Amino acid sequence: MPTIRRLSQALINKIAAGEVIERPASVVKELMENAVDAGATRIDVSIESGGTELVRVCDNGCGIPADELELAVTAHATSKIATADDLFAVATLGFRGEALASIAEVSRLVLRSRTADAAGGAEISVHGGQCSAVAPCGCPTGTTIEVRDLFFNTPVRRKFLRSTPTELGHVSEAFLRVVLASPQLHATLQHNGRPVFELSGEQGWLERIERVFGRELAESLIPVESADGPVRLSGYVAHPSQSRSNNRMQYLFLNGRCIRDRSLQHALGEAYRGLLLTGRYPIAILALEMPPEMADVNVHPTKLEVRFQDSGRLYSQLLATLRSRFLTTDLTTRVPAPAQTDADSPHDPAAADRARQQLVDWAKGQVESWGPRPGDAAAGEFPFDTGSQDPSLASPRPLELTPLTGRWMPSGPAPRDPSLAPQSPTSDLQSPTPAPYPLTPVPRALQVHDRYLVAESDDGVMLIDQHALHERILYERLRARILSGPVESQSLLVPEPVDLGPAEAAAVLEHRELLARLGLKIEPFGGNTVLVAGYPAMLANMGPADVLRGLVDRLLSGGKLPDRRDLLDDLLHTIACKAAIKAGDRLTPEEVAALVEQRHLIDDAHHCPHGRPTALVFSRDELDKLFKRT
Ligand code: ADP
Ligand code: MG
Repeated sequence: MPTIRRLSQALINKIAAGEVIERPASVVKELMENAVDAGATRIDVSIESGGTELVRVCDNGCGIPADELELAVTAHATSKIATADDLFAVATLGFRGEALASIAEVSRLVLRSRTADAAGGAEISVHGGQCSAVAPCGCPTGTTIEVRDLFFNTPVRRKFLRSTPTELGHVSEAFLRVVLASPQLHATLQHNGRPVFELSGEQGWLERIERVFGRELAESLIPVESADGPVRLSGYVAHPSQSRSNNRMQYLFLNGRCIRDRSLQHALGEAYRGLLLTGRYPIAILALEMPPEMADVNVHPTKLEVRFQDSGRLYSQLLATLRSRFLTTDLTTRVPAPAQTDADSPHDPAAADRARQQLVDWAKGQVESWGPRPGDAAAGEFPFDTGSQDPSLASPRPLELTPLTGRWMPSGPAPRDPSLAPQSPTSDLQSPTPAPYPLTPVPRALQVHDRYLVAESDDGVMLIDQHALHERILYERLRARILSGPVESQSLLVPEPVDLGPAEAAAVLEHRELLARLGLKIEPFGGNTVLVAGYPAMLANMGPADVLRGLVDRLLSGGKLPDRRDLLDDLLHTIACKAAIKAGDRLTPEEVAALVEQRHLIDDAHHCPHGRPTALVFSRDELDKLFKRT
């Protein structure tokens, strides 16, 4: 029988250090936060060897009285809260009183400090938790803390440290989080004696962002602002032409504290849905201000995560703020176009072709079955034909939509008269029968390099990506069809077992009903395995496990439960992309015309579902300028 015993304070501190101090960057974070809490207007950080040899943080804050130095490095000693009630109205970055003790437990720490009214400074050293006596020293008002040989007495931890550049990267990130929150702070970071950042205190937030992230990013930022009762949201989000392959450029500050919040990150992703390529993440630097009691910061040792009183409401606020902002912002990509990578280049061309052909067939079947009866000579099955009898398909929504740009999209449908429509020659690609297309007012257009269309627009010229535009058109039409009825499910003869993580399996079973409405029939199988008994017929070539996994990510992505519409969106994006004509497909002039004409029927047509721009616009004025006519 093992006996229960009390842990020594040293061991308790080491355990706490394990939570709070993961690497040199954690030391930088804690020491800088203490300096901010002390009212410092200047903080100088210098580190050696990525911070593994030395982290020194020097501030000009209020300092610590000599007789409190020992307490400062003692666990559970803090000047920032006194009663339990204070916990729910924390106005400082720190309050747990364990950072200095934790750091001192696993390093050689020297703390020098002096308050404004003291005649001189005082210092204390702590080596692996062993305190020296407090001794007088000469130093300016403020505090300097040196942390050497981090983890010298916890070799396992030390082994986890990465290369110097990696640790420096983490330190820089920790530094940035603090300086972004306080633009007026004069802050410097040095590595091995060389300056990494020298920020002298900026006029405002945007200037600081520009100093830190550069001009290109700063110039792409769109200011956003909103208030919901006492909750104020303000800051910047980047134009979709600027994005990242991960969410690390999403900074969220709650009352001056940098936090991460999955739900709000999800809202951000939602706001950019359709504006970014899959796998790309928006850039955002946002500040939330609210009364401290509306958020519990005492849920995470490093306080990176917090618990909001009403996170659903915040989610909605963020989403609504961005959506309404985007509606009034010109998001059309202007020349010069940003470099974009081709996200959907197939790995296995043959398999991709087969998959695509199946989808094309399926998509055609769908279009046929909604549209004209077979044998109806006037109507065709050209996938981008709108001459269909189903009015909901020809114009799934009122056509007076205001596009985001307000540019070169007509505000009404082209008059249609099938008898006037010229017959489209057969496309060997997808259109075996003639297709009518509206006569007016089709912009003159030309296919170049089998992938782009050049068309005249009202006030200039547009270059259209044929794949991106067709994808968007198919997506919109499939969606209009599917949202109006149930999704056809195909039963599997032998249900397919899919192994998931515990949280994933739980989420899938919890949302069985929702998934069933998408045509995905799930049965429990025991443990973390579920059985897929039926899945959407339209995805016949995708493999049930892949379909399910794709949806599970959405179910788990936090925040509001994605509704059927959102989940469908994900599926439709996939289908539309695979079924659309590709770059390299030669089109007949009639197909070109039909495609360009369709552009006017689709709102948000300037981005394909992956968020690649569908078109670049050169206004006549711009062209005139380029040709030096003005
Ligand atoms: P916490 O920040 O949670 O209070 P710490 O262990 O980080 O706990 O710091 C303990 C105490 O030491 C703080 O409450 C504060 O009173 C004092 N202190 C630490 N760093 C500084 C500093 N740079 N300037 C002034 N006081 C400091
Ligand atoms: Mg602290």
